[in-house]
Amino acid sequence: MTESTVVVVEDDRNIADLVELYLRQEGFRVVQAATGQLGIEAVRDQRPRMVILDVGLPGGMDGLEVCRRLRADSGVPILMLTARDGEIDRVLGLELGADDYVTKPFAPRELVARVKAILRRTDGPPRGGEADVLLAGDVEVDVKRREARRDGKVIALASREFDLLRYFAENTGLALTRQQLLDGVWGHGWYGDERTVDVHVRQLRKKLGPGLPLATVWGVGYRLG
Ligand code: CA
Repeated sequence: MTESTVVVVEDDRNIADLVELYLRQEGFRVVQAATGQLGIEAVRDQRPRMVILDVGLPGGMDGLEVCRRLRADSGVPILMLTARDGEIDRVLGLELGADDYVTKPFAPRELVARVKAILRRTDGPPRGGEADVLLAGDVEVDVKRREARRDGKVIALASREFDLLRYFAENTGLALTRQQLLDGVWGHGWYGDERTVDVHVRQLRKKLGPGLPLATVWGVGYRLG
């Protein structure tokens, strides 16, 4: 098995070293970057399996901006590190395409668990194993290639957005509660709140437009078709 690289973008050396220590114990290769600019370069050069990205970074480019720039041309999973009082950062980070976040101060083991959960989700074999291409309205959901396409053109989605779209496509016609969506897409171990679902649904609607028949089921959640 090839070593998986994780890029850790964090200016606090103590935290970066701690994260590196724990990830190395799990067999990951870690590349540290102390500024956003260095982080973007590291992602470009190293092609990592995952990025751990602190929101508070020096040098005029914070983690949110780094996230936005990475998402312009990359679907690499991003786990954000946010401050305890950084509710707005968390929502913004998810809207910008981050996959998940961990609030500082965090237990290293929790961080490792999140990393593994994201990698399981993004690298795992297609669920069900039947159809490789599902349909969500006029959008093709290519499970094998992890691509959403319309008229043969790929629509850029963050990995979590893709998983959410796939889950809807696998459950067309069913009213799905936010909790069902959290369990099905984020996994049972995920303990974020239900607004996370709303943020991602909003992103999906924005990116996929009116061709996606994704209805709000008032008081419950959402339904495709
Ligand atoms: Ca920092």
